[in-house]
Amino acid sequence: MKRPRNKAAERSATGLFMEDFMKFLFTASAAVVIFFQPCFLLAGMLDTAGLTEATTEAEIARARGVGRFAADRSSAAAVKAPPVESTQGHAHHGKCCAFKLVKCNLVIVYGKADGKDHEAVKNQVRDSAIFETLVEHLNFFIELPSELKLRLAMLGEENAYYDPEKKEIIISYELLKYFSDLVDLQKDMNADEKAELFVDLVFFVTLHELGHALIDIFDLPVTGKEEDVADQIASWIILKTFGDDDHRAVLSLVNASEWFVAEFDASALKVEDLEFAGSHSLDPQRFYNVIAWAYGFNPDAAVAALGADIGEFLTDERIESAAVEFDRIDRSFAVLLKKYLK
Ligand SMILES: [Zn+2]
Ligand SMILES: [Zn+2]
Repeated sequence: MKRPRNKAAERSATGLFMEDFMKFLFTASAAVVIFFQPCFLLAGMLDTAGLTEATTEAEIARARGVGRFAADRSSAAAVKAPPVESTQGHAHHGKCCAFKLVKCNLVIVYGKADGKDHEAVKNQVRDSAIFETLVEHLNFFIELPSELKLRLAMLGEENAYYDPEKKEIIISYELLKYFSDLVDLQKDMNADEKAELFVDLVFFVTLHELGHALIDIFDLPVTGKEEDVADQIASWIILKTFGDDDHRAVLSLVNASEWFVAEFDASALKVEDLEFAGSHSLDPQRFYNVIAWAYGFNPDAAVAALGADIGEFLTDERIESAAVEFDRIDRSFAVLLKKYLK
C-alpha cells in the first residue's frame, strides 16, 4: 500500500481552471490513442529472459512494428484502425499484438466516481483506455492462474493497494485526480508531455500494486521490504517492456518517479520518527532507488531522461554499483517469474 499522503488541503488549493482541464483531457486522450501503444517490446524482456519459445518471430516483428518510435508508425492508421473486440468486451485500439488474446484474467472494474472532478478523471482514463492498454500489454506475457481484478473506486483518500483476500488491486479516483493535478502543475511541459506524464504515473502505481499481487498469487520469495520489491517489479516491467528503445522505457520510469519527489523539498524535510518504522521506504529513497535502477539498466538513457549529470542524483558508490544492482534484479525476476511468463 502506498502510504497515504496528508497534504490534501494544500493540493486542493492549487485548483484547476476548467478550460485547462478540458484541454488536458482532450490531449491526454488523443496522446494515449495516438502515441501510446505499449504492446511492442515484450520482445526485449522475452529475449533476455530466454523465454522466446512461445513467441514467434512474426509476432515479435509485428509487436516491434507498432512501437511508439517504430519507423513505420502511423498515427492516422492507429486512430482509424477499427477496434478489435477482445474477450474482455472492450475495444482494443490500434494494432496491438494482444489481439491474439484468448483468455484474460486481469479484469478492470470501473466503480462509481463521486463528484464532478472524480467523474471527469474517471471518464478521462476510461475514454483513453489507459488501463485497458496496460492490461492487454501485461496479458501478453504474464499468465495469471485465476481472476485478478483491477478496481477503480472512491476510497476517501489518494491511495492504491492490493487486497490479497479479494484478489483485487484497488486504485482510487482520488489518486488519479491527484496525478491529474500534479501533471497540470508542470508548467514547463507541453500538452503531449503532460499526457505522457499522467500515463506514466498511472502505470507505475498500477504495476507497483501488480507487484504485490504477483508476490501473493505466485507466493514469490521476498526477503527484504516487500514495498521495495513492488517498486522493483514495476520498474523492471517498465524498463524491460515499455519501449521500442531503452530511452522511451527509461523516460517512462523517470517520469513516474516524479510521484515520489513532487512534494519533496529537501530544505523543508521533516520526517516524523515513526515514518522510519513504516513498511515503505521514504519517498526520496524510493525516488533514488528508481533512478539507480534506470541508470543501472541504461546509463546513457537515464542521463538523457534526467537531463542532468547522474552525480546530481546518485552517490559515487551507487553509480558504481548500479549496473550490478539492476542486473541482479533482472536475473532474479527472470528466475522467479519464469514459470508464469508466457
Ligand atoms: Zn505497496
Ligand atoms: Zn499489447
